[in-house]
Amino acid sequence: MAPLTIQQATKSFGGLQVLHGIDIDMNDGEFVVLVGPSGCGKSTLLRLIAGLEDITTGEIRIDGKGVSRLHPKDRDIAMVFQSYALYPHMTVAENMGFSLRMRGESAEVQRRKVEDAANILDLGPLLDRYPRQLSGGQRQRVAMGRAIVRDPKVFLFDEPLSNLDAKLRVQMRSEIRSLHKALKTTIVYVTHDQIEAMTMADKIVVMRGGHVEQIGSPMTLYDAPANVFVAGFIGSPA
Ligand code: ADP
Ligand code: MG
Repeated sequence: MAPLTIQQATKSFGGLQVLHGIDIDMNDGEFVVLVGPSGCGKSTLLRLIAGLEDITTGEIRIDGKGVSRLHPKDRDIAMVFQSYALYPHMTVAENMGFSLRMRGESAEVQRRKVEDAANILDLGPLLDRYPRQLSGGQRQRVAMGRAIVRDPKVFLFDEPLSNLDAKLRVQMRSEIRSLHKALKTTIVYVTHDQIEAMTMADKIVVMRGGHVEQIGSPMTLYDAPANVFVAGFIGSPA
């Protein structure tokens, strides 16, 4: 669990500025959803938090500690992408335990953490299977399992459901919500799907063109959108 604060974050690629003075405060254990049209800077912001891109100016703090210049592995953050590439030659258990093995954890610790994560994600019976023997939803759960075993303080999701069919998407939404309840970590979840945002978020951050347009609870955004853009975005069908 950790509060996450982003202060005046900007990002430029060469001469192109894609994030302009982003300020966001996330509480301990909050489920925060970043929404906005394609190209507005959601993934870039997530990658700044993860340390996969260097921040241009501004600061990101986790638990009050500035992490903007820390290496990704020192940030206590796990990220789940939309293309969740699993290692094809490793079993589910080996996929999930891989980062622990790299970290030099004992076989006993690896086994325990993988089993705990498998229980949370209902993957117990699948631990000896290979990725090709799994459905899309099961693979997505293994990808989450790989992240969970590392006990991250903050979880980042970048459109994790966009490759799944509509029915599975609805099911995975509630699985991710339960996961959040079980782990109580801070989650930053990116989607361009406003229904997903409205149903999953404690707090929604609406972005456009590298700016934050409004931050609020789903009800606040619905009842009191700050401007026509937010009203149109929240009100329109997926
Ligand atoms: P979103 O995730 O909201 O669709 P992105 O964060 O991927 O948006 O992209 C925001 C803007 O930054 C886009 O205009 C995109 O083309 C640009 N961008 C993203 N990554 C790079 C990069 N590595 N180099 C140059 N431009 C980039
Ligand atoms: Mg993106």
